[in-house]
Amino acid sequence: MIELKNISKTYLMGQTQVHAIRDVSLEIKQGDFTAIMGASGSGKSTLLHILGFLDRPDSGTYSLAGRKINNLKDSQLAVLRNNLAGFVFQQFFLLSQINALENVEMPLIYAGKRHLRQKAREKINEVGLSSRESHRPNELSGGEQQRTAIARSLVNDPLVILADEPTGNLDTVSGKEIMTILEDLNKKGKTIIMVTHEAEIARYARRIIRMRDGQIISDQRTESDLGQRSTSETKTEIRVEEKGEREKDSQITEQRNMIPLETILSQSHQSVGKTEFMDHLRQAWHAIIAHKMRSALSMLGILIGVAAVIAMLALGQGAKESMEQRLASLGSNLLIVRPGASRRHGVSLASGTVTRFTLDDARAIAELNMVKAVSPALGARAQLVYGNKNWNTRVQGTGVDFAPMRAFVPDFGRFFNQKEFDQRQKVAVIGLTVAGELFKEENPIGRTIKINKINFQVIGILPEKGANAWRDFDDIVIIPVTT
Ligand code: ADP
Ligand code: MG
Repeated sequence: MIELKNISKTYLMGQTQVHAIRDVSLEIKQGDFTAIMGASGSGKSTLLHILGFLDRPDSGTYSLAGRKINNLKDSQLAVLRNNLAGFVFQQFFLLSQINALENVEMPLIYAGKRHLRQKAREKINEVGLSSRESHRPNELSGGEQQRTAIARSLVNDPLVILADEPTGNLDTVSGKEIMTILEDLNKKGKTIIMVTHEAEIARYARRIIRMRDGQIISDQRTESDLGQRSTSETKTEIRVEEKGEREKDSQITEQRNMIPLETILSQSHQSVGKTEFMDHLRQAWHAIIAHKMRSALSMLGILIGVAAVIAMLALGQGAKESMEQRLASLGSNLLIVRPGASRRHGVSLASGTVTRFTLDDARAIAELNMVKAVSPALGARAQLVYGNKNWNTRVQGTGVDFAPMRAFVPDFGRFFNQKEFDQRQKVAVIGLTVAGELFKEENPIGRTIKINKINFQVIGILPEKGANAWRDFDDIVIIPVTT
């Protein structure tokens, strides 16, 4: 079934070459139970990995059922490995977060097979573990874990079982149980190749190959093999057996050709079907459930991340809008012209040299083409009185256009008009802060207040402008600059 010819494998460890396998030729017949023995480092595992398509030899040929498979692509080797080889390792290598049954299912999923549960149950039953199928690996004894691993290796109905020190981590009793299972499997016709360094364990096999320094030094049939062959003492009957053996050989030759190698290889480019997709989905779901804490934390992390991004975007947007609003309320295409500086380098100039704009200057500026509107402005602090209430605020004299220019059109009442401006009427538009201080709940519109002891009629309330750290934009009274 398997034929290795002049196989060599060299590893490079830094500068030194390690000849793990040197020129090994070996034939494995279907239905055989072979033990590979040898000291540590003699190349047993390497040979087993090559036999199980886990590794490629550097030189030599590997024939499977008469077909050379040296030149197969990695993906094709993977398919062969999945379909033809079952692995059992010293360390079990079970997935710790899923139960025994799900561990056994695993290779079926990768092979894209159907009826996972049913097949997995069948195999777990075969190793006598039905009652423990829903337990996780850490709830199983070493022997039970290895039995699970054997069930897993069997689930794809492999041609050959490859076991690397399957009893290495087990006590004697569990080790014997495992060997009994392997022996039974072999009796049922499974080909088994096992690496071990214990003579006790190797005795279960029917053939023992000994290795030293990467080479085979002996290849013998064991007692159990002879025991199986010679069921009777008489020579004739042995001959009959031998004849039977030969018949068996020819059957094997037929079987060789029955290995659907091409069919298996053609699977390497299979696409993932819908049902397989569902299997993967189920596995994914199991993984999420199995790691509740981790999944929850991951979810929380994603949640916080997304929330943070949304919050930052919203914050940015809000800040931008608020800024635009602020700018618009201050008048966003506004130019302020001040008369010649009355202060330079912190030194006050003599009052006589201070220039002042006149209303004529304002009118002259208004005549410029690109100027839409002009408002003169003149301000001073003044004392306001209404009834028994006092308030000190800034009084600003402006033109009629001041309202639209600075977005100061009152929400309540009105701004003064051109006539009132021209006639120097004593009318005032007050800010919200002033309104609050002087009038509280009362409606200010139409009331008379005193500004520096002169009566003014309140005709409007300015829209809210808000305040910053330095200044309250609502703490203001606006009157015609002419007044
Ligand atoms: P055994 O299983 O008989 O103990 P191995 O087949 O594991 O021996 O190893 C044979 C030799 O090859 C050892 O000297 C080991 O150090 C070396 N070897 C095995 N695998 C590698 C690797 N991946 N890289 C480098 N050297 C390796
Ligand atoms: Mg080893």
